[in-house]
Amino acid sequence: MNSTSTQDWIKTRIKPEEYKKYLVNDKDFIDEEEITRKLSDNKNIDKNKLRDILAKSLEISSLSTDETAYLLNVNDSDMLEEMEEMAIKIKKKVYDNRIVTFAPLYLGNNCINSCLYCGFRVENKKTKRQVLSTDEIKKEIEVLTGKIGHKRLIVVYGEHPSTDVNYMIESIKTIYGVKVATKYGHSEIRRVNVNAAPMQIDELKKLKQAGLGTYQVFQETYHHDTYRKLHPKQTVKGNYSWRLYTMHRAFEAGIDDVGIGALFGLYDWKFEVMGLVSHALELESRFGIGPHTISFPRLETAQNTPYVKKKFQNVTDRDFKKLITVLRLAVPYTGMILTARETAALRKEAFKLGVTQTDASSKIGIGAYSSKLSSQTGDKQQFYLADTRSLDELIRELALDGYITSFCTAGYRCGRTGSNIMQLLKTGTEGKYCKLNAVLTFREWLDDFASTQTKEIGEKLIVNEINEIKEKMPAMYSEFSKMYKRITRGERDIYI
Ligand code: SAM
Ligand code: SF4
Repeated sequence: MNSTSTQDWIKTRIKPEEYKKYLVNDKDFIDEEEITRKLSDNKNIDKNKLRDILAKSLEISSLSTDETAYLLNVNDSDMLEEMEEMAIKIKKKVYDNRIVTFAPLYLGNNCINSCLYCGFRVENKKTKRQVLSTDEIKKEIEVLTGKIGHKRLIVVYGEHPSTDVNYMIESIKTIYGVKVATKYGHSEIRRVNVNAAPMQIDELKKLKQAGLGTYQVFQETYHHDTYRKLHPKQTVKGNYSWRLYTMHRAFEAGIDDVGIGALFGLYDWKFEVMGLVSHALELESRFGIGPHTISFPRLETAQNTPYVKKKFQNVTDRDFKKLITVLRLAVPYTGMILTARETAALRKEAFKLGVTQTDASSKIGIGAYSSKLSSQTGDKQQFYLADTRSLDELIRELALDGYITSFCTAGYRCGRTGSNIMQLLKTGTEGKYCKLNAVLTFREWLDDFASTQTKEIGEKLIVNEINEIKEKMPAMYSEFSKMYKRITRGERDIYI
C-alpha cells in the first residue's frame, strides 16, 4: 500500500458515533479529580475497616474505588501481610492451584502510530518491518504447538492497513487450521486471543465469527495528560476515548470476553490501579460482565527507544507485588496475566499472589519461532524480555511449587464465557470443570512434550490431583477416569 492510501485508511479508523454516545457532558468515566481525591482521602487506616474490605473480597465481590484507594494506601507491614494472605486465599478459592499458559505470537510490526515507548513506532527506522504470510504463520504454529506444545496464543498486531481486519481474520483461520502429529497424539492451537488496536463494531463482529478468543486492548495510561504526551494527537492512537470505549464496542458486537490492561511505568502506579478498577466497574455496571482478564505489564527497554530510559516512572518490585495484591482483592473474579517481561524470581512470587495466566518459551521477534531467532532480536521486536525460560522449565518449576499447568480451553467452547462464567467463577463452580480439564490437558502435554525430568515431577502432581478429585468430586470421578484413560491411549482434546 502506498503512503496516500495509508493516509486514506487512517482517516477511516475512528468512528466518533461509536464512542461519543457514551460520554456524559463530553466526559469519559475516568474522573481524575475524583481518583486523586479518593487516593488522598482514604488514608486513615484502621484494622477493622481493612478486615471488612477483605471480607467483601472473599465473597468475590468487586471493591469500590474508595475501598481500592484504601488498600493502596496501606503501608503497615502486618496489614500488608493480611492483604497478601487474603489475595492467596481468593486465588485458591476461584482458581485453585491452576496456572494457564500461552505464547505470544507477533504477526506484523508495521504501525502507523508513534507511541513514544514502543519499538514499533513509525519513526523507528531501526526496526525491521515484516508481516508474516500464510505459509510463514503455519511454520510458526508448527513450532509453537507441534514442538513446544502450546494450545493457546495471544496474537499481536501493529495498527496498519497491512494487518487490517481482513488480515486478522485470515491469520486466525490459518492458526486454527494447523494440526501437528505428536509422539502419542496430535496438537493444535485451540484458542486464539488477540491483542490489537481498537476496532470498529462491524470488524469486531467479524473477528468473533472467525473464532476470536479474548480481545485485549490496554489503555496504556488512564491519566489523560500523560496519554496525550505519549500518543501524538494526529495519530489514531492519540484519541484517548476511542481506545477507552473499545470494550464497550466489543460488548455491542457480541464479544463478552475482554481483557483490559495498563502499561505500568508511564504514570503513577496507584492512579493506574484506580483506572483499571474504574474500568472493570464501568463494564460490570453497563454490561453486567467485568473483564475476563487484567494485564499489568511493566515498561521495558526497547531498541532505539530512548524515552523508556529517560522518562519512565519507576515501579519497584515492592510496588509491583502490592499492585498485584490490590488488583486480586479489588476484582476478585478476574484472570490476571503476567508476562515474560518480568524476571523468573518475581514471577514465582506473583503466581502465589494472584496471577492466573502466563507465557513461556516466548519469542516476540516477527517470525522468531520458526526461523530459530534467539529470544532477543532487538530490531524485530517491540521490547526486550526478562524471562526466556522454556515452557518445559516453567512447568517444572510450577509443578515443584504445587501448581498444575492447565492447557484447558474447554470453557470457551462449551459457552462458559461472559456472564455465564462470571457467575460460575463467583460461586466457585467453574473450578470443578477446570480441575478435571486441567488434569486431562496436563496429561496430554506431559506425554507429548515433557522432558524426562519434568514428566517425573508432573506425574507426582497428577497423582495428588487425581486423589483430590476422587475425594472431593466423587460424582464426577467415574466419568473423569474414563476420559483420563482415553488420553493415555493417545486420544486428544477431550474435555468436560
Ligand atoms: N498495536 C496495538 C496496540 O497498541 O494496542 C497492539 C499491540 S501492542 C504491540 C501490545 C502492547 O505492548 C501495548 O498495548 C503496550 O502496552 C505494550 N508495550 C508497548 N511498548 C512496550 C514496552 N516498551 N515495554 C513493555 N510493553 C510495551
Ligand atoms: Fe504501534 Fe501498538 Fe507500538 Fe503503539 S504500542 S507503536 S500502536 S504497536
